Amino acid sequence: MTIETILQNYLTQPKLELGDRKEYAGASDVAQCPRKVVLTKTQPVEIDLPTLLRFERGNMVERIVENALSYAGVSFEKQIEVVHPEHENLIGHLDFVFFRQDEIAVLETKSVSRMPDIPHTSWIEQIHFQMGLMALNDTRKVRGAILAVDLSSGRFELFDNFLPNKALFNGLVQKALHIWQAVNGDVEPDTEEGPLCVGCAYQENCPEFVGQDVVELPIKREVEDYLALKENLKIMKAEIDGLKNFINKAVKPFGEARVGEHLIKLSSSSRTGLDTKALREAYPDIYEQFKKTSHFTRLYVK
Ligand code: SF4
Repeated sequence: MTIETILQNYLTQPKLELGDRKEYAGASDVAQCPRKVVLTKTQPVEIDLPTLLRFERGNMVERIVENALSYAGVSFEKQIEVVHPEHENLIGHLDFVFFRQDEIAVLETKSVSRMPDIPHTSWIEQIHFQMGLMALNDTRKVRGAILAVDLSSGRFELFDNFLPNKALFNGLVQKALHIWQAVNGDVEPDTEEGPLCVGCAYQENCPEFVGQDVVELPIKREVEDYLALKENLKIMKAEIDGLKNFINKAVKPFGEARVGEHLIKLSSSSRTGLDTKALREAYPDIYEQFKKTSHFTRLYVK
C-alpha cells in the first residue's frame, strides 16, 4: 500500500462524533453557501489528499486545546450535540463547552493559514448558531468565543465575548431550514458567492457564474491584498538593494569587516551561462535539438 493510500484512507474516516452530516443541517452549514452545502451532502465529490491534509490541521488544533485544558485541570465537555427543540434536523456540534453554575461558555476552534484582524463572517454565524441552540436548551446565560490558531507561525488569537443575538439566530435558523428543504429536494438551494467560491467543487454550472462574458469573482479583498503586498515587496527590494550597495561600499576597501556579531566578507565569483541567441544563430540545428520548452502560468492583474 502506498503512503498516499494510507494517508487518504486515514483522513477520509468519518468523524463519528459529528454523525451523518447528510441527516441534518449543522452550525458549519449555516455559515456557508447553501448550494455548496446541499451539493456536498447530496452529490459528494472525492477530496484530494492535499486538501484532506489541510483540513486535518483543524483536528490538530482541537487536540492541542483539549490536551491543554485537561492538563490545566479545566473542566469542559467536548463535541456536545445540541438539537433545535422544534426542528430535530437542525443540530450544532460544539467543539468545547464549559458548564458553570450560572453560565455556559462555548468555544469554537479554528485553524488558519493567515490570521484575520477580525473574525470571518462565517465564524461569527457559526458561533451564533451554536449559542442560539444552546440558549434554547438551557436557561443559563450563554456566551461564546473563537480561538484561531495558525499552526505554521504559532500565532493565535482569541475572539471573545460573543453573546446570543435573537435576530441573527432566527435568520440562521431560516437559512438552516432552507438548506434542509433543499437537501430533501423541496426547493432549489440559494447561492451565496464569496471567497469560498474559489476551489468550490460545484462552481461549474453554478448560477452565480453561468452566462457572464467575463466572470466577476468575489475575491476583491484578496486581489487588493495581493497588489498591496506586491507594492510593499517592490519598496522592500529597493531598500534592500540600497542597503546592500551601502554595505558593499563600506566593506570594499578592507575585503572583510566585523560589525558587532556579524562578519562581512566580499568575495568574487563567476557564473557561466549560454548565450542562446548567439547559439541559435551559429548552430540552429544544435539549438533545435537541445532546446527545452517549459510551460508556466503568468498572472496579470490590471
Ligand atoms: S461557486 Fe460559490 S456560489 Fe456557487 S455553489 Fe460554490 S460557493 Fe456557492
